[in-house]
Amino acid sequence: MHARDTAFWTARAAALRPAAQAYIDGRLQDARDGRQFASSCPHTGQTLAMVARCDRADVDAAVTAARRSFDAGHWSRCHPRERKVVLQKLAQLLRDNADELALLDCLDMGKPISDALNIDVPATAALFDWYAEACDKLYDEVAPTGPDALALVTREPVGVVAAVIPWNFPLDMAAWKVAPALAAGNSVLLKPAEQSPLSAIRLAQLASEAGLPDGVLNVLPGYGEEAGQAMGLHPDIDCLSFTGSTEIGKRFLAYSAASNMKMVWLECGGKSPNLVFADCADLDAAARKAAFGIYFNQGQVCSASSRLLVESSIHDRFIEKLLAEMAAFQPGNPLDPATRQGTLVDAGHTARVQGFIASGLQQGASLLAGGERLRIGHSDCYLQPTLFTGVTPDMRIAREEIFGPVLSVLRFDSEAEAIALANDSIYGLAAAVWTDQLRRAHRVARVLRAGTVSVNTVDALDPGVPFGGCKQSGFGRDLSLHALDKFSQLKTTWISL
Ligand code: NDP
Repeated sequence: MHARDTAFWTARAAALRPAAQAYIDGRLQDARDGRQFASSCPHTGQTLAMVARCDRADVDAAVTAARRSFDAGHWSRCHPRERKVVLQKLAQLLRDNADELALLDCLDMGKPISDALNIDVPATAALFDWYAEACDKLYDEVAPTGPDALALVTREPVGVVAAVIPWNFPLDMAAWKVAPALAAGNSVLLKPAEQSPLSAIRLAQLASEAGLPDGVLNVLPGYGEEAGQAMGLHPDIDCLSFTGSTEIGKRFLAYSAASNMKMVWLECGGKSPNLVFADCADLDAAARKAAFGIYFNQGQVCSASSRLLVESSIHDRFIEKLLAEMAAFQPGNPLDPATRQGTLVDAGHTARVQGFIASGLQQGASLLAGGERLRIGHSDCYLQPTLFTGVTPDMRIAREEIFGPVLSVLRFDSEAEAIALANDSIYGLAAAVWTDQLRRAHRVARVLRAGTVSVNTVDALDPGVPFGGCKQSGFGRDLSLHALDKFSQLKTTWISL
């Protein structure tokens, strides 16, 4: 048995030959016009695969296959227990292929192999298991009519669902959309981000191996303006679920309006506040989680706790603790199992984050730690974990989503001021509150405008609780039974007795 060290993962990576075609109607296919794009590794700079560059003709073919499979009913109208068995088998296949799937995400977007292997892949498998279990546990309704009628309210799949996802958690984000959409009985088209298409293609292959009928899950790698837009505008897609930036989320609303009024669900950006009150008893835990909340996944997390609001009386003491916790997130080779911060997704995004660091300096914030772009091995897509104090609410680093390892610290002197600062954002995805006063915890949680408020932790997440935002973080919820609502419609059948 080899030690699973850097050399082990480097050798596995060198031997990898990922599938890179589109997956349509149960088989790998080139793009109809034969075009490809390079999927490259931000850590080595090497091309991992030449990937099918899907466009409108491929989307048309996938919609035709999806609609045919939906109408055939082998999945959409099968016994819920049959769906459960297939989704459970897929969950097991994900576990069986964990090394390969973790490597694909690690190489495609630079996340640490340990995170991909210990967090992303198990979470993805668990999610398929969770929705598999839901399939045969949900009951429909009988409405309380008078004695002369029986009114059934039944839940039906919407039909053909498209999912367009970002690159920060490639496999996880695919599962957040695909698992509930399939559990509800739909046929699905999935467009992964151009930076990270490979694990989605493998997911589709494994789904077929698990017994999913042809055409029920189709994967279309390609560019947003091509494959993504074609999905948004397609007249025969019934529902589109998007995770990505607020700017592109708005475009999907326009695509829907310009085409067939398809349902659109949006999970967009965030600038989540993390409020630390002086009455928090465990400041060590708060500092540990504050560091995790911004530096995990290189800060490329939509719900990252990117604004730290600290009560003035404990500010300096808390920052000392935070600086100590940051040490764990020094960047390193993503294939080293000890690494906790890998590369950012690519050079362009690294430069964008550097631009925010420059704006923080220019607008007068104090750079307390980090701020440098690093070269490690062949790559310069590494950024030091960065900490700004003395941030004021008008600064860009306090207002805009950076999507990198950059934390902005603001001070407050009262609960009312903390709430006002926290809610002073166009976003409303997540928030965290650290306090040991029960009444304060409830009082503050109630008025924070966010889809999830974590108390004495950050970024609380579980398959059983809904995740999503308000304001310009979007609408609709992923995860939990509520996600099924997005991919189902209600039918009333009124029987006059
Ligand atoms: P983008 O919005 O740029 O892209 C997301 C997806 O949309 C990609 O698949 C992209 O394709 C596609 N896309 C891009 N342009 C278009 C277009 N004109 N028409 C149709 N589709 C298009 O986001 P990023 O990939 O840069 O991801 C980062 C963003 O995602 C952050 O803002 C982050 O907050 C958000 N996010 C939100 C989450 C949430 O749950 N709320 C979770 C994770 C991330 P392509 O890759 O080819 O450009």
